[in-house]
Amino acid sequence: MAEVTLENVTKIYPGDVKAVDNVSLAIQDREFIVLVGPSGCGKSTTLRMIAGLEDITGGTIQIGDRIVNGVAPKDRDIAMVFQNYALYPHMTVYKNMAFGLLLRRKHAFWDNFIWALFNPPAHRKAVAERQDIDERVQSAAHVLGIQELLKRRPKALSGGQRQRVAVGRAIVRQPKAYLFDEPLSNLDAKLRVEMRAELKRIHRTVNTTTVYVTHDQEEAMTLGDRVVVMKDGIIHQCASPFEVYDRPVNRFVASFVGTPPMNFLNGRLDGDGAGLVFVAGGSRLSVGPAHQEALAPWAGKPLTIGIRPEVLSVPNGNAKPGRALRLQVGVVEPLGDRMDVYGSAADGTQMICRVSSRDTIEEGAQVDMQVDMDRVHFFETDGDGRAVGLG
Ligand code: ADP
Repeated sequence: MAEVTLENVTKIYPGDVKAVDNVSLAIQDREFIVLVGPSGCGKSTTLRMIAGLEDITGGTIQIGDRIVNGVAPKDRDIAMVFQNYALYPHMTVYKNMAFGLLLRRKHAFWDNFIWALFNPPAHRKAVAERQDIDERVQSAAHVLGIQELLKRRPKALSGGQRQRVAVGRAIVRQPKAYLFDEPLSNLDAKLRVEMRAELKRIHRTVNTTTVYVTHDQEEAMTLGDRVVVMKDGIIHQCASPFEVYDRPVNRFVASFVGTPPMNFLNGRLDGDGAGLVFVAGGSRLSVGPAHQEALAPWAGKPLTIGIRPEVLSVPNGNAKPGRALRLQVGVVEPLGDRMDVYGSAADGTQMICRVSSRDTIEEGAQVDMQVDMDRVHFFETDGDGRAVGLG
């Protein structure tokens, strides 16, 4: 168990490709941290630098109390699980899990009974090492619920079972930290959700620092104690899943986290006698009390409002002025208990609303959707789309 600390870490590949740009991150002991972002954002490179599989161009990486920049991967005391499980096809599950440990044994030479006659103490040590490995494999198999599979070969296992064995191989090492590189992307959607819950349970049991890479924001949100949202080699936000969802620091994070994604509508902030009003798409939305003070400096300026689909609701004959966003309803998608309503605002901006399937809404109608103005976000329209008015 250990902290993993990255300080000003940069990676430039040949051809001047800056994959990771001055990243600093302090991962706490036993923490489950997820690096997430679109393809090419530098998350795998970051993980591979922690593992030692990729040289660092600048900065330092520390595992526990040791700077590991020049330390070979095998000496970093970490275990990595990849997307392709890389199990040995000719070995049983037991052997696959024990193999790494068997290779590292100091006294393997004295295993043999004949040799034991020449050096009984070394033989006893060899037997103890073998017992320790057996205990570790049995214990990992128990944690993973694969005891009955130990004698099978990989080809006789399902995708989920193979993934478990790959995780088991990492667990038996009892490393300082686990590194996972998109370990669930080869599984079908249902199995992925199951394995996600399983990985969370396993982390609670083994309680070891874990760094996990995925491009799937839902996986990141469900697994991470903290989520690190990356783009273009830069960390945009590192916070709890709740905070990343509820207080995104910029428009990129706001749009990347959450499905369906957040709606953005460009407009302007006006002051009227009763306070600030956001004017956009032919509608006037009264800024909620939570935002009034913090947004005062933006009065009269262009801003972008961010509205999550679930923050819009059908008026059901009870439309309130100052909360109504007029939409021309396009397609309505039923999803069982909910419906996704696609509509366009007066300026043509496309919006998605997630409403209850008990609501009545007609395709082609014009509806004053109600906006919960205490739950909206505001961003600078220009530049990086920095969140404003967070208070
Ligand atoms: P992610 O895991 O977020 O998809 P990567 O860390 O794999 O992203 O890649 C980050 C950037 O570095 C991308 O632009 C990618 O094309 C580039 N890159 C990755 N590996 C290499 C390499 N071996 N040589 C040159 N460029 C690379």
